[in-house]
Amino acid sequence: MLDTKGFRKFAYQVVDWMADYYENIEKYPVKSGVKPGEILSCLPDTPPEQEEPMEVILKDFEEKIIPGITHWQSPDFFAYFPANSSYPSVLAEMLTATLGAQCMVWETSPAAAELEEKMMQWIMYLTGIPSSFDGVIQDTASTATLTSLLTAREQYTHFAINEKGFSGTEKFRVYASEETHSSIEKAVKIAGFGKENLVKCAVKKDFSMDTDSLREAIQNDLRRGFNPLAVVATLGTTGTTAIDPLKEITNVAKEYGLWVHVDAALAGSALILPEYRFMIEGIEDVDTFVFNAHKWLFTNFDCSLYFVKDKAALIRTFEILPEYLKTKTHGRVNDYRDWGIQLGRRFRALKLWFVLRNFGLRKMQETLREHIRLAHMIRQNVEEAPDFELLAPAPLNTVCFRYHPSGMDEETLNRINQQLMDTLNRSGKVYFTHTRLHGKFTIRFVIGQTYTREEHVRKAWSEIIRTAMEIS
Ligand SMILES: *Cc1c(COP(=O)(O)O)cnc(C)c1O
Repeated sequence: MLDTKGFRKFAYQVVDWMADYYENIEKYPVKSGVKPGEILSCLPDTPPEQEEPMEVILKDFEEKIIPGITHWQSPDFFAYFPANSSYPSVLAEMLTATLGAQCMVWETSPAAAELEEKMMQWIMYLTGIPSSFDGVIQDTASTATLTSLLTAREQYTHFAINEKGFSGTEKFRVYASEETHSSIEKAVKIAGFGKENLVKCAVKKDFSMDTDSLREAIQNDLRRGFNPLAVVATLGTTGTTAIDPLKEITNVAKEYGLWVHVDAALAGSALILPEYRFMIEGIEDVDTFVFNAHKWLFTNFDCSLYFVKDKAALIRTFEILPEYLKTKTHGRVNDYRDWGIQLGRRFRALKLWFVLRNFGLRKMQETLREHIRLAHMIRQNVEEAPDFELLAPAPLNTVCFRYHPSGMDEETLNRINQQLMDTLNRSGKVYFTHTRLHGKFTIRFVIGQTYTREEHVRKAWSEIIRTAMEIS
């Protein structure tokens, strides 16, 4: 097993590998082409009895693991939403792993707790989230949304369900739009509300929530004896980055006493741009807000930033105090184990600190504005190309389109666009994923990887045109 001397040697070697990887990342096929079971079958069935040298392990990493990796940090990655990273973030992760601190309470590493507190204040300053809110880092937006809905449930029932469980008479309803993320449904299921009590409101032509539909749904539910509990607004839906009208939603919520959670997983990062602050008009009436620094803010997965208006309600929902976790400082400091679901916590604030300082606001703004400019360039290309069709407005960094040569019925169009995307992805040069809008197979062109430049985007667009010509 490695000793300190060996660690030093291989650490240098690994860092060289990391730098080479980033330098040559465009040479890898963006999407891994391995077949199901391929990696599994090249791994031994049992772990080794005797120690194995690091050289062999690292060689296997390169030969057996890397072929099965999809390269999310490639500047030619345009799929899903980004999970972008950056050099300062990676450096911090190395240090985090080195410290190996378990940051469940203040005393288990005061610097982790206090840096987290300060970073959340920095993020509020950067995004315009009111400084009266409190923030905590969660692993994912899914967890934050579940945390929010559980807090809503407990506040509504005066913490009775935590105490006694469901009585069987509650008929909670949670509202979101048809374009809401699947994590909302998952949270509704886990929180015990039942999937059928997630009410999906209609969307307008731009795929943002139609608040008339929200109001009607609430009134309808009240007439039928349901308990409207919460509404989840999405800023930047996963399908098309539609922006729900927050101010209108909070107005309806106020009228009916609903809890408001905002899922801004991707788009929250854009709040560092003053021109996108309009998205949070109404924020003072929001209860909880989440966005992922691990999507579009250069901080590698995982790092979800969760903000709450009422810290006491959050803590009262999750607090536990067994004897073995009692500390003398409890109540005077932030013990983040009480701010969410998990007890054990990684030191995530460190990478955010490195990123925010090493980029600085200017550089972050420049990078996001460039991503958005490039997306709007692609939008224009799509609009001007004779055989392509724009399928949704592109208010942020995502363009939804399809290939649409004349004289094809919908079924053929769906098939040919699936084929276009699969062919592009198999080439290894780019990676796109899709959604369906009004039944139409839609290719999403998402620009958000840290090191994506105009040349990558132009090259991808040429590939799309060339491949479309080839298959038709
Ligand atoms: C990505 C995404 C999520 C889920 O994020 P996780 O951090 O992976 O849980 C939730 N909502 C929206 C709108 C997203 O785009």
